[in-house]
Amino acid sequence: MTDLLIVGGGPVGCVVAELAARLKNWKSIVVEKRNHIAGNCFDSHDKNEQLIHKYGPHYFRTNNEKIINYLSKFTEWIEGNYVVKTSYENQLYSFPINLNTLEKFYNQKLSATSAKDLLKIKSIEISNPKNSEEFVLSRVGKELYEAFYLGYTLKQWDKHPKELAPSVCGRIPIRFNRDETYVDAKFQVMPKKGYTAMFQKMIANPLIKFCPQTDYNCIRNEIKPRVATLYTGPIDAYFEFVFGRLPWRSLDFKWKTFKKELVQSCVQINYPNEYSYTRSVEIKHVTKQKCPFSNISYEYPKPSGPPYYPIPSTQSQLTYEKYKELAERERIKKNVFFAGRLAEYTYINTDQAINRGMEVFTEIAEKSENS
Ligand code: UDP
Repeated sequence: MTDLLIVGGGPVGCVVAELAARLKNWKSIVVEKRNHIAGNCFDSHDKNEQLIHKYGPHYFRTNNEKIINYLSKFTEWIEGNYVVKTSYENQLYSFPINLNTLEKFYNQKLSATSAKDLLKIKSIEISNPKNSEEFVLSRVGKELYEAFYLGYTLKQWDKHPKELAPSVCGRIPIRFNRDETYVDAKFQVMPKKGYTAMFQKMIANPLIKFCPQTDYNCIRNEIKPRVATLYTGPIDAYFEFVFGRLPWRSLDFKWKTFKKELVQSCVQINYPNEYSYTRSVEIKHVTKQKCPFSNISYEYPKPSGPPYYPIPSTQSQLTYEKYKELAERERIKKNVFFAGRLAEYTYINTDQAINRGMEVFTEIAEKSENS
């Protein structure tokens, strides 16, 4: 007999299992299709003891101190140090665009004020940008858009920025200072021993039973939890694709080991204009491990394969809304809760996934108290 059945051992599933055990004394069974926990945050050591982010780099950051305090029960931290450059005509530029980028690109000395004046001239007046192209043109104009955004976005999505919501390229800040970090967030830190170690500690409680390599479909009629089911897998699969498949953009990672302490000048280099991969990542810049070897991953976007990015289009959103209605009925009638990237067809960062885990735990606890 279990209190919770948790489908998926990623961040949302681990947080709910942990809170349920500690705050409610509830037993959970966590079933996970893969052979490990931590979802796409999974990291592991290669033969040189180098920590690698198997499913792409996860640059942990948050503005929410509550999340840092919570995760600090399970890990110590190292500084984030997420610096990204982008390649244009065989030169590397600071990215996101900042004063250094603008000075190099336009070959002139700039202050915050003169840079703003310059971009006022370069940008195109679009009062209410309807897509990613309009968004970027309205902020920085055609030259910077074509140098840094257009090619990358075409490769990443196989769609023109005109076809994508403003929020896709709008994720990236544009700065009038010399801040070289990739993201704007108060806390930019990485779990000291890695994400897998952090999530392992989170679920190291006798009330939590973790079952790797277990397909939900094989056990869904056998395990009847007393309180609720938390489903974090793909929502369309749960409903046997009645409204068709939700589209996802996938990635291939090609790995190369170099006999060098470090290969690149920073953790990530974006290639909007060269190669068929979008970026090369040397996570050792962040983990700061000492070793005469280093690994680089090259990311090749592809149309099918493991789901990484939901496609931000009107059609896919409409299909998701139909599934969401079914999910709502399932929650009311059968106490099945849907949460996380795959179950809510949403692109979320790791801190948002942790937050979602906390929220859905509260929803489950409240519903159980009221029934
Ligand atoms: N993007 C771009 N040029 C870049 C990096 C990103 O045009 O050098 C666009 C691209 O469409 C991408 C979006 O901005 O999907 C968000 O980028 P981010 O680096 O946040 O993507 P993630 O790391 O989540 O894949």
